[in-house]
Amino acid sequence: MGVLRHKEPKMNILKRLFNNEEIVEETRKNAAITDINTDMPPIDEKTIENEINNFQYIFDHLTSGIWLREKLDGDLVYASKGFEEILNLPLTKIYKTLSLRYQMVHPQYKKEVTANFQSVAQGKTVQMLYPITDGKGQKKWLLEQIIPRVDNAGTVTQIFGMITDVTHEMDIEEKLNFLANYDSLTRLPNQKSLFEMLDNNCRERTTFALLYLDIDRFYVINNSLGYQIGDEALKEIAERLSGLTPEDGYLARLNSNDFIMLVKNYGDEKRVYELAEKILRSFEKSFTIQDYVLHITTSIGITFFPEEGERRLTLLENAHTALFQAKRQGKNNYQLFSHSRDISSYKKYVLDRDMRLALLNEEFSLYFQPQVEPSKGFVVGAEVLIRWQHPEWGDISPAEFIPLAEENHMVNQIIDWEIEKVCSILHEWKKKGYRLYPISINISPIRFMKKGLVEFVRTQLEKYEVNPRYLELEITESSLLKTDQSVLNILKELKNLGVKVAVDDFGTGYSSLDYLRKIKPDTIKIDKTFIKNIKSESEIDKGVVASILFLGKRLDMKVVAEGVEEKDQLDFLKQNECDMIQGFLFSEPVPQEKYEKIIQVGYLKAVQKSKKKGSMRENRNFYRFELPFHVHGKMTIAEVNNQVVQVGSTPILIENFSLGGIKILSNLKLPVNSNMKFKFEFKVLGEDIEVHGKLRWIEDELQDVYSYGVLFNLNRTLEDHMARLINRMTTLRITNQPIPNTEFVYDQVTVFFNKV
Ligand code: C2E
Ligand code: CA
Ligand code: CA
Repeated sequence: MGVLRHKEPKMNILKRLFNNEEIVEETRKNAAITDINTDMPPIDEKTIENEINNFQYIFDHLTSGIWLREKLDGDLVYASKGFEEILNLPLTKIYKTLSLRYQMVHPQYKKEVTANFQSVAQGKTVQMLYPITDGKGQKKWLLEQIIPRVDNAGTVTQIFGMITDVTHEMDIEEKLNFLANYDSLTRLPNQKSLFEMLDNNCRERTTFALLYLDIDRFYVINNSLGYQIGDEALKEIAERLSGLTPEDGYLARLNSNDFIMLVKNYGDEKRVYELAEKILRSFEKSFTIQDYVLHITTSIGITFFPEEGERRLTLLENAHTALFQAKRQGKNNYQLFSHSRDISSYKKYVLDRDMRLALLNEEFSLYFQPQVEPSKGFVVGAEVLIRWQHPEWGDISPAEFIPLAEENHMVNQIIDWEIEKVCSILHEWKKKGYRLYPISINISPIRFMKKGLVEFVRTQLEKYEVNPRYLELEITESSLLKTDQSVLNILKELKNLGVKVAVDDFGTGYSSLDYLRKIKPDTIKIDKTFIKNIKSESEIDKGVVASILFLGKRLDMKVVAEGVEEKDQLDFLKQNECDMIQGFLFSEPVPQEKYEKIIQVGYLKAVQKSKKKGSMRENRNFYRFELPFHVHGKMTIAEVNNQVVQVGSTPILIENFSLGGIKILSNLKLPVNSNMKFKFEFKVLGEDIEVHGKLRWIEDELQDVYSYGVLFNLNRTLEDHMARLINRMTTLRITNQPIPNTEFVYDQVTVFFNKV
């Protein structure tokens, strides 16, 4: 119960509570009026005593605590029972030491509480919310209202206050706040908090480094050991990273297996590199999750504020570009944005960024490459090969984007889209009355490790009423698949469904006879590298091809020879009784409409393509100077859709010069006749030239080397300059003199591009 200090008469307390005698007088009067009207006995001390008892009763039964204090820094003269309960402190103690309450307030809130008391001193009513540690050491949130009583002279004569314990409400709010700002799995700040933090840091303009960490091949853990183990691993990873976060650092989980670490005021960049190395080293110690010992590595991309970006989005994008480079360098390393901005990583970055939208925008399409039987060229099936028509980069080869899709998990969606699309096309053909042939689809090992493949295939077959024997799934031999029993089970289930299974690129990678024995595929596809070497009189390659064909016969598996381009190859394959031929000799991969025409005809002729040279396409309007050796140059993207972009340069080789443009070689696949403008830099006759231009045509020069026709965009001065240089070089050439001060490359083209 509330304790009345000094055992004052209750009358006085009531007076204090309501500040002056008027109220008491009022009470008296009211009672008297009532008395007159109702014939009640007149008011006396006893009635007042009763009233006081009532008030006391009410106060002591309130869950809130009520207190009264004389003057600003006067004594506490009244405190209710609730007050004692909330503070968990005997009232006698509270009365004795006034400062006790202030001591209970949490340090971060002391300033606010003091400020509020200053407002009270000025006669203002205040309400505040603050946490305390109560007499028993528990954390509590209090809502307190304080009402000062001011006399005519403006002096605060009394202060009345009420505290309410709102811990429960605050706990809920704190939890909500936690959920909104923290990741519940790792308890690290989440993306929202990270974004706020980045925005703040950018606004404050303190220098910081941003490290973008991505756990390498995390999907393997998730897919092969399950999400529960994956989650546990992430928790452990988060803990290890937290331990490595510097004092003025910040660590957040951006999404699934991506973490961001910020290091403010890092001083010397070296400190950041050392930190990155420390992180990489710390992962050398394996993670033990339940019964599994996991060897996990991480890749890191680093960017600096403000030098490399002044806004949140730019910084994250730049760090991601650097991360990409790290992945490309074989993972488990760190890369700086400043080093990773060349065209190729820029392209990868753009493709990765746009892939999600590409499915929605229907930028993917399926091409069909017919498979024929070798003697008459009758069509026996086709392989579907995906194509991506990117709005800026043009046709993107699956060899380029499928590995990216495997890294960013989009591959599963893409493959499912393909499976459904193929089933719907087969349905369409059946309705049109076309003769049907099996279609094979490439299935990335990643898709095999994700649950539900068999179920998905079954559903699509049923939905489109497709006979399963028209569907074949191609898998490549890979170390991942070889050992995994669950993959073997999936293959078995697929075969039970009636779907066929082919082993792709047989002979490369990890193929073993044991693998064939376990998988029992319906089809083996001999990799094109073996076929290519048939004509080179290489007895070994011929032997390998003949043996695979023999093996196929013995094991009752069909054998497809891939990459057949020449008649000689076909003859050899025919002699060795190859079942099916797939290659440019019969047909390149073609769009659906063209394939429909092919199946309606039913057979294809072998036509050996002659290799035409690109020089036919070069601009004949200008005199062209053919260089004795390639000249070393650099190229970069200057503009995309009239927007200037910041991309680092990539080495090129220049083959000839004219006023209209140059012919260059590059190991990059770049879009021609697109909205991309390029900048070229090179040095001839001691002069540094920088010109802008567009790519007009492309041709396959060698394996992974392309030649391009560049059309210059020259102004008058530059044109005169180029004309003088070309003239001087021509004169030197005619007079058999060397061309000085020019960066010639004497390496072979492939050697050059492998070096850079
Ligand atoms: P792959 O499965 O070995 O596919 C055969 C590749 O060889 C295709 O390249 C095809 O165009 C090419 N090719 C066919 N005949 C000849 C020939 O006579 N000579 C030469 N030099 N090449 C020939 P493409 O379409 O660029 O595909 C490259 C790789 O990308 C494929 O190799 C496959 O691993 C992957 N891929 C292609 N399409 C898909 C797809 O739809 N899904 C998935 N997951 N991967 C795909
Ligand atoms: Ca294939
Ligand atoms: Ca293949």
